[in-house]
Amino acid sequence: MRIGHGYDAHAFEAGRDLVLGGVRIPFPRGLAAHSDGDVVVHALCDALLGAAGLGDLGRHFPDSDPRYRGADSRGLLRHIVSLLDARGLRVHNADLTVVAQEPKLAPHREAMAANLAADLGVSAGRLNLKATTTEGMGFTGRREGIAVHAVVLLEETGEPGGPGEPGERGGAPSPRGA
Ligand code: MG
Repeated sequence: MRIGHGYDAHAFEAGRDLVLGGVRIPFPRGLAAHSDGDVVVHALCDALLGAAGLGDLGRHFPDSDPRYRGADSRGLLRHIVSLLDARGLRVHNADLTVVAQEPKLAPHREAMAANLAADLGVSAGRLNLKATTTEGMGFTGRREGIAVHAVVLLEETGEPGGPGEPGERGGAPSPRGA
């Protein structure tokens, strides 16, 4: 097992779409960024890279590279999953906390989680996404932006490039059975 943590924060910016977990959320402001500003995906990517010992998102997809201008962050996420796959690393589970005073994320939580689970290639029970406010405190509380924390657990399968959920390759079934 390998554990990884990711954190990212972006400031709100008028005139941009708000994209969180690959879901376009109706809101007057988006997040300032070189890419699509999907801070949820960015934190998850950094957690995955951290667990794999592969650095961080900025190292793989530099802000200075025009190829990533307006980039769909889910494409970056899927690329990182393929890097892990090639090293025999498989996502066991991930847990994310979105810190935002607004907008309300509950109506979008399921769609966001489904996108992320699909990109990670895991069942819904292995991807947990939750949201909280900070009761008006700090930069998120002042509605200046959104922050996200992500924690992931990877399994070293010893089988580079193999598909499937943990426990589905003839080994002992996963005790978690998700
Ligand atoms: Mg970012």
